[in-house]
Amino acid sequence: MIDQRTRECAVSFGLLLPVIIGIVWAASATEVVGRELLLLGCVNIIAAVGLGLFSGTSGILSLGHVAFFGVGAYVAAWFTLPAAMKSFLLPDMPLFVQEAEWSLAMALPVAALVCMLLGVISGAVMMRLRDTSAVIASFGLVVIFYLVFIGAKPLTNGKQSLYGLPVDQATWPVFIGTMVVALGIAFYMKSTRFARNLEATRDEEQASRSIGIEPQFHIFMFWVLSAGIVGLAGALYGHVIGVISPSGFYLEKTFALVAMIILGGYRSVSGCVVGAVVITIAEEIFRKTEEHLGTFAGTETIFGFEFPLVFGLTAISFSIMILIILYTRPQGVLGYREIATMFNVFAANKDDAGKHTELPTYKVSAERVLETHNLSKSYSGLNALEDVGIKVGAGEIIGLIGPNGAGKTTFINVLTGSLFATDGKIELNNEVGTEWSAVKLARKGLGRTFQNIRLFTSLSALENVIAAVTVQSPGLGRREVEATAMGWLNFLNLGDKAHTNSGNLAYGDQRRLEIARALALEPDFLLLDEPVAGMNSVETEDLKKGLQQIVSKFGIGILLVEHDLKMVMQLCDRIYVLNKGQLIAEGLPKDIATNAAVIEAYVGEETDHL
Ligand code: ATP
Repeated sequence: MIDQRTRECAVSFGLLLPVIIGIVWAASATEVVGRELLLLGCVNIIAAVGLGLFSGTSGILSLGHVAFFGVGAYVAAWFTLPAAMKSFLLPDMPLFVQEAEWSLAMALPVAALVCMLLGVISGAVMMRLRDTSAVIASFGLVVIFYLVFIGAKPLTNGKQSLYGLPVDQATWPVFIGTMVVALGIAFYMKSTRFARNLEATRDEEQASRSIGIEPQFHIFMFWVLSAGIVGLAGALYGHVIGVISPSGFYLEKTFALVAMIILGGYRSVSGCVVGAVVITIAEEIFRKTEEHLGTFAGTETIFGFEFPLVFGLTAISFSIMILIILYTRPQGVLGYREIATMFNVFAANKDDAGKHTELPTYKVSAERVLETHNLSKSYSGLNALEDVGIKVGAGEIIGLIGPNGAGKTTFINVLTGSLFATDGKIELNNEVGTEWSAVKLARKGLGRTFQNIRLFTSLSALENVIAAVTVQSPGLGRREVEATAMGWLNFLNLGDKAHTNSGNLAYGDQRRLEIARALALEPDFLLLDEPVAGMNSVETEDLKKGLQQIVSKFGIGILLVEHDLKMVMQLCDRIYVLNKGQLIAEGLPKDIATNAAVIEAYVGEETDHL
């Protein structure tokens, strides 16, 4: 039994592959398109799929993968170039390379491995970077490797070309076989929890850490894998045209690769394939029209059509295509999902998942306890928290209230590792967790929700919860994971919204989904930051009952930060009151309601329910 994501990827793979092979075969048999162009099309598909696997899943647009493309091309050339050519072009190469005359099929895994090794080295840096700095660093990789290709003359023949590559090695079985492998790896990876985790990080990194997902590990893994796939493409490339040089692995190729994935839609493997096909054809058209550089010398006939000869047409046209796509359809031609989802007949049976539900029967042990001692946090001079000590036991609902700016969210952020304390101690089940990361705290039993809802908005409601289930129970099969996630959704009355994109859910549903996702971690303690903000009175009543059920059924301890004082008074066993970062009161609801310091702190605020 497989889950919906796996089915989507498997069907897309099964649909795309025969179509690509069919087109290649038909075009080749009828000679409508030259063999070289078809082979280049395969190379571009592999490269785009490799790049898209990283960039689409992580959301980090890499401008650096052409470096791996180039390395793949040179490494394969070292082993496939005839020995006589090597003694002439690369006389300083080690003897075993000098003498090697491998087939391309043998050289491919070596090229991929070398690229993955370079991926490991560069990935150690890339996994620490985000957004613009990641894009710029990746671009630096292309520049560095371009200079290395030129400078490392004994390995690359420098600025001169490395020519004489055996083009007879560019056979259909090798090219189609490599494409099947690349697409297979990409679709397989997309179907795994690793891709879902990385997509979660792409959507909301802080929230992904809060359910125990380690972003760096996932970025690293996809970076290394994609380096290997793009390296394979580079290795094939050299054998299509028979000659490689550093200029082939620089800006123009970078631009073309980026255009492919943006045009088709880089979040899906199918989108990358479509983009690669379109850009391959476009590149062929534009390249021919540019053959008379610097002139407007008449026209060129391509595929039976007359095209004007214009200098710089390729780059100009790619730029315009990218601009049009980004403006009209930023998600690319194919959108965010795989091709299978476009055909209802192949789409997952959406009722199917709902039939199998399984709510875990865990119970938090009564000895579990969450404590803070003298916890302090200052933001460059401003003391947001000062010496705050609280205690939450298993099975308790503890309120944390205070006027705006009192430090409640800061407290939750420090407790859950999103911020580090300036001073003081956090103890979770008698272990000191003050310096634990958010990921470790989540895995050790702290679940949380956010004041400003942080869902993985490109994932369905079900997948949001699945992401947490797979962290909590890595050994579960895909079907069981889905069933457990459905169990949590049903528990929060969200079963019928399982396949709705979480970003499209109503506000109240989004709040409950955050709770379902946190619960799926099977935490000892749940820290809720204003869970009923934005809910109507019916939804608030429902959630109140839900929280009581969570405590009675699972024995979880809840720390509730809430401005709805009526709710806090009705629900909580004990209440702590913060004001200007300091605890000003603690006790039973009835005592807090009459506490003079609390009433004083709330002057000017809504205190009807105190
Ligand atoms: P609210 O109920 O309005 O959400 P709160 O009790 O959650 O408020 P916090 O958001 O924790 O309060 O803020 C506590 C204090 O710390 C406030 O004075 C706030 O301005 C300040 N603060 C919060 N975050 C930062 C930050 N990143 N940098 C500097 N100051 C901050």
